[in-house]
Amino acid sequence: MSEPKDRFGNPMTIRCPLVDDELIPDDDCFLVSTVAEGMTPKICIEKRFYQKENFSEICLNCPNYRI
Ligand code: SF4
Repeated sequence: MSEPKDRFGNPMTIRCPLVDDELIPDDDCFLVSTVAEGMTPKICIEKRFYQKENFSEICLNCPNYRI
């Protein structure tokens, strides 16, 4: 089975707890983390990343945060 890829053909390599450990691209992870930090508005990311009430806390404490 081939590795999952994003819409640009890049490998999706990070398991994100905000979306039930789904594989996401590392650039999505970076952008979501800037939203969790309050640096970027939520409108810049898909809604599914901030459905959990404490999404910022989950993201900032995630082992993938700024890897
Ligand atoms: S750092 Fe944030 S966006 Fe990246 S995998 Fe963890 S929870 Fe998801």
